[in-house]
Amino acid sequence: MVVTLVTYTDDLGEPVVVIRDVPADVCARCGEQFFNGEVVHRLTSLVEGARSGRYGREGTVELRYARQEAA
Ligand SMILES: [Zn+2]
Repeated sequence: MVVTLVTYTDDLGEPVVVIRDVPADVCARCGEQFFNGEVVHRLTSLVEGARSGRYGREGTVELRYARQEAA
């Protein structure tokens, strides 16, 4: 496993939420991405923040994992 910064996309609703530079363990064989618990928690917060409409309710919202604070 190698820690890599990946792009996480949540397209299960509007807006589509794209979060860049997310640390993940990536399998060198199959490319599957694994996020640790802290990362999952933060991704969930960021997605919920975006879903609340703070960045608009349509289209795609792009966030950066390290910079933006979610409520
Ligand atoms: Zn694998």
